[in-house]
Amino acid sequence: MRIVVLTGAGVSAESGLGTFRDKGGLWEAYPLEEVATPEGFARDPARVHAFYNARRENARAAAPNAAHDALARLGAAPGIDLTLVTQNIDDLHEQAGSPSLIHMHGRLTVALCGACGTRWEAPAVMSATDPCPACTAPATRPDVVWFGEIPYHMERIAAALERADVFAAIGTSGEVYPAAGFVAEARRAGAETVEINLEPTGGPFGRRIMGPATETVPRWVAGLLS
Ligand code: NAD
Repeated sequence: MRIVVLTGAGVSAESGLGTFRDKGGLWEAYPLEEVATPEGFARDPARVHAFYNARRENARAAAPNAAHDALARLGAAPGIDLTLVTQNIDDLHEQAGSPSLIHMHGRLTVALCGACGTRWEAPAVMSATDPCPACTAPATRPDVVWFGEIPYHMERIAAALERADVFAAIGTSGEVYPAAGFVAEARRAGAETVEINLEPTGGPFGRRIMGPATETVPRWVAGLLS
C-alpha cells in the first residue's frame, strides 16, 4: 500500500512544541512577517535568529511522542511504502526513527549560507555574522523555508501524491500552501484521504479522525497494519 502522510505542528504539540496558532506561544511574541519572511530577515537578522535560536533550544529539549513513534512503525512495516512529509522544522520524526522523511520547510538543525548556498550543522546559537565555512561570507541563516520561498522537494512530493493509495494530513491547519493543496492533488489521483486533527479544517477530506495525535495516530496506524 502506498501512503503519503503530511504532518504539521499539531503532531509535535504534545511533545511541548508550540503550534503556529498557540495562545501565548512563541509565534504570538514574534509576528510572522517579522520572523518568517526574507523581508523580515533583511530588516532585522538578529531578531529572526533570536526566534529560531529559541525554537532550536525548545526542540532540543523535546522528545518524540506516541504519534511520531506510530508513524515510524508504519514506515518500517512490510508491505507499506510510506512517504512521510513534514512541515515541521523540528527533528522529532528522525528521533522516533522514521526511516525516510521529507522536510519540506527545512530543518532547525541546519545552517544555510545566504551567499553561496552551503549548508552545515547549526550551532546551538546562530548569528547572521557567523562566517560561512566555505565562502566565509557573514550571511548565515537557518535552513528553513520562509513565506514567499519555495518549499523543498516539491517534485518528489508530487510524484508520491500521484501514486498514493492513501493520503493523510496530521495536525496541520491547511492554511499554508502548497502543503494545503496536497489533499486535492491526492484526491485527483484517486487516493483515499484522511484528516487527523483536533478539529476539522476546511480541506476536502473523505474521512476525518478527530482527537489528540498521541491517541488518534497510533489507532489509525494499528488499523492500517491489522
Ligand atoms: P498550524 O499551527 O497552523 O496548525 C496546527 C494544527 O494542529 C491545527 O489545525 C490544530 O488544530 C492541530 N493540532 C494542535 N494540537 C494538536 C494535537 N495534539 N493533535 C492533533 N492536532 C493538533 O501548523 P501547520 O499547519 O504545521 O502550519 C504552520 C507552519 O508553521 C508550517 O509551515 C510549519 O513549518 C510551521 N511550524 C512548525 C512547528 C514545528 O516545527 N514544530 C511549530 C509551529 C509552526
